[in-house]
Amino acid sequence: MRKPVIAANWKMYKTPAQAQEFLQSFLPLVADDTRDEILLFPSYVDLSVAIAATAGSNVSVGAQNIHYAEEGAYTGEISPSMVEALGATHVLVGHSERRQYFGETDQIVNKKIHAAIHHGLTPVICMGETLEEREAGRTEEALLLHCQESLKGIIPQVAENFIIAYEPIWAIGTGKTATPEMAGMAHFFIRTQIAHLLGRHTADRIRILYGGSVKPENACALLNQPEVDGALVGGASLDPYSFAKIVNY
Ligand code: PGA
Repeated sequence: MRKPVIAANWKMYKTPAQAQEFLQSFLPLVADDTRDEILLFPSYVDLSVAIAATAGSNVSVGAQNIHYAEEGAYTGEISPSMVEALGATHVLVGHSERRQYFGETDQIVNKKIHAAIHHGLTPVICMGETLEEREAGRTEEALLLHCQESLKGIIPQVAENFIIAYEPIWAIGTGKTATPEMAGMAHFFIRTQIAHLLGRHTADRIRILYGGSVKPENACALLNQPEVDGALVGGASLDPYSFAKIVNY
């Protein structure tokens, strides 16, 4: 049995004070939840506040990005050891907004995954097809390439703890959601490719989340798909009550 993961991606929203305020409301709403793993990905500047506020709770905190280098002259970047030192446990890797606006490729994603593992951070690896790829019938080809390239050199035992987020790019922040069947099929395809690359044992353990306009109204239908092991939530995670509704689906 795979434990469901419900994750909030706050993107470039919320100051530390707003993060604190969110958690004051949110934590009591989900305090009794033992079914799910609850993850929060705030901005770098909110990490300390979020980690302190969630200490001893059932919510873990991760960064939205890391650089793959150990340290160096990379103005404006944050290293994996900095994130680790703050007490973060997870890191988002390869979010489509990083790929689209900051030129991240599967090769960079692969380096970041290796860097994350080295620092004991669990990567949440994001992948998904563009609208053009879906309309051209090339969804599976795109997903296959993401899996092959981003998981290069990864040992199956290590990958067991990985989390993958299937996020069709056309569904992110657009209000368009993949139907539960579409999500189920994409997740099944990804898991099959993981089995080819890393073995069945690992494939059966990796959690695959759906992301892209998840809201309280559609969470249940998506999360009830057998291949869907959770959700990565953007817009609807900014409000404590709406995110708590998704956690308590
Ligand atoms: P959305 O974002 O829920 O606002 O579509 C999801 C994501 O980008 O992870």
